[in-house]
Amino acid sequence: MALRVYNTLTRTKEEFKPREGNKVSIYVCGVTPYNYCHVGNARPYVVWDVIRRYLEYKGYKVFHVQNFTDVDDKIIARAAEEGVTPGEIAEKYIAEYFDDMDALGVKRAHIYPRVTEHISDIIEMVQGLIEKGYAYEVDGDVYFAVERFDEYGKLSGRSLDEMRAGARVEVDEKKANPMDFALWKRAKPGEIAWESPWGKGRPGWHIECSVMSHKYLGDTFDFHGGGVDLVFPHHENEIAQSEAYTGQPFVRYWLHNGFVNFSGEKMAKSVGNVITIREARQEYAGLALRLFLLSTHYRSPIDFDLEKLAAAQKGWERIQNAWEGLEQALDKGEELSQEGELPERARVLQDRAEEAVAKFVAAMDDDFNTALAVGVLFDLIREINSFLREPVTTAGERAALARAREAFQDMGEVLGLLPAAEKAADDGLVEELLQLIIDVRQEARKRKDFALADSIRDRLSELGIILEDTPQGVRYRRK
Ligand SMILES: [Zn+2]
Repeated sequence: MALRVYNTLTRTKEEFKPREGNKVSIYVCGVTPYNYCHVGNARPYVVWDVIRRYLEYKGYKVFHVQNFTDVDDKIIARAAEEGVTPGEIAEKYIAEYFDDMDALGVKRAHIYPRVTEHISDIIEMVQGLIEKGYAYEVDGDVYFAVERFDEYGKLSGRSLDEMRAGARVEVDEKKANPMDFALWKRAKPGEIAWESPWGKGRPGWHIECSVMSHKYLGDTFDFHGGGVDLVFPHHENEIAQSEAYTGQPFVRYWLHNGFVNFSGEKMAKSVGNVITIREARQEYAGLALRLFLLSTHYRSPIDFDLEKLAAAQKGWERIQNAWEGLEQALDKGEELSQEGELPERARVLQDRAEEAVAKFVAAMDDDFNTALAVGVLFDLIREINSFLREPVTTAGERAALARAREAFQDMGEVLGLLPAAEKAADDGLVEELLQLIIDVRQEARKRKDFALADSIRDRLSELGIILEDTPQGVRYRRK
């Protein structure tokens, strides 16, 4: 089945066709690093991480670019408050951003361009827009003339008159039209600034994304993403700048994620109703937070609430335990009987695994419906757990279990919710050591040294490892 995506530009679900062969180019608007990331900020990055993983699962070669707005009013204000340079503020919060994204299982983009490293490219595009008659300079500021770009408003679906009526536009005598926006801003005394043909100054906000996407992805690319709050004016302005500059279509598919609301309002630093990823991580696993964010379709708003987050934590533990149970059951293979036909229950599990993958793909093909896809994963987990309630004694049962594991792995990898990924670094050593401890404990029990056996169980429990007697023998799970 073909992948269909909801394109903000056409307001319809369209079949996705890459611009070039099996290559997919993605640009996602990144953060302004002046503070810790909150749950609302993190949503687009988790969403785009899953989109990218799914495209890769479908065999596309993805190139993902995401910027850092490392100079802006908020960074400058914060730097002044703390008595450090804007560069130091940006550096600190970029490191924090990566720390949070690692915890949320977000893969790194292929490139993270920063504004301060692209000033000459920005000046070049602004200059080009002036030469083409789309921009004008007034007293050290450069503005984009929205009336010169006929299609201004095509993304947000509003005419210039409607925008003017809806926006609280400050009267600025320098602007020819109140909706004109700054491409370059003249330096205020003492502020960080760069030399330009219009005197010392710094870029306006919108121009950076046009410049950096153009530099790394070319005139036209496949996907552009960000929160729905960026549709207007940011993305509208990006289109105007880029298409005016290149004369080519800018982006083929615009995808926008919904807000995270908290206490009835959009989670935002300006509103003051934020929970940072850092705070959430003190109580919940990063991947539980990821599961929470993916349990709603990316275009729908999420109402943040701690009970739902606690439920996601339980869900994440269920995923981990099912995966470990599966791994442990599959580890015992040698003593299985080869005879007989495929047992009925094995055939059922195998069918359920096939069905799960088909349903998962159908959900993801329908505009990346992770809410449904997560449900499919939990259905499969239920099947696996119920299968493991009886001992696995035949090669046929083991084969069915292996098929279920494969389905689990494919879905878990796309959603970024595979416990194995978290533990990849230890090369399986932890599992082997745990098995060794379990074996020693079994030996102690055989010798009737129950004091030692109990002490091992208690100490494992302190470490968050629970031992359970199952038909497959003793197995462990994490608390
Ligand atoms: Zn942007």
